[in-house]
Amino acid sequence: MRAAVRIVVACLLGAVMTVVVAWGCATWAHTGSDDFDYDVPGPGERYGLDSRVPGDWVTGTWLRHRGFGIEYDWVSEMVWMGSLPGMMGDRQNRTFHRVAVGWPLHAMEWVCDRDVRLDPRGAGQSVWLRGFKPIRAGRIGWTGDRRLPVKPLMLGFAIDAAVYGVAVWSLIWGWRLVRAKWRVRGGRCPACGYDLAGLDGCPECGAGSAMVGS
Ligand SMILES: [Zn+2]
Repeated sequence: MRAAVRIVVACLLGAVMTVVVAWGCATWAHTGSDDFDYDVPGPGERYGLDSRVPGDWVTGTWLRHRGFGIEYDWVSEMVWMGSLPGMMGDRQNRTFHRVAVGWPLHAMEWVCDRDVRLDPRGAGQSVWLRGFKPIRAGRIGWTGDRRLPVKPLMLGFAIDAAVYGVAVWSLIWGWRLVRAKWRVRGGRCPACGYDLAGLDGCPECGAGSAMVGS
């Protein structure tokens, strides 16, 4: 029973850590112009997000930013013209962007698209898909379109939560081990720290004398 409670607590702490790290990446991870790469997928070339791009789109630009714990894709029908995307008068200029954050794996994402056909019910405005901007975001030095995602990427989230859960568990377990050794060295009960001078077992918690000095 206690083990089950500990596992649940470790999972919860792992999930909390996953969100904290993902939001940290969303806030501070660098995706500046020195590590971006713009590209237009050739025929048949796939970037993994292709399923999000409707078949009738003519992709003009695909900006791919990659930084520590962050991945930012900006897909548009507008064509990159040197340093800016340029409107082509004769066709639509639909755009969407997507940010995935988290470490070691990307655990959460937000998506913004400006195409009503991609977003028939205005879902792009929902916090679930779009994430949110904290109040007074400007005060913590936020620039550009940084947002905190709400939607988890299931596999990445589960793996990150497991990694952090195990890490938190190991820290607690390691600390207990070290503490028990200190206590034994000081002639105290390894389980509760009660002074065992001249005693056989621990009168405080009932730990046997066999544990002492082992
Ligand atoms: Zn004790």
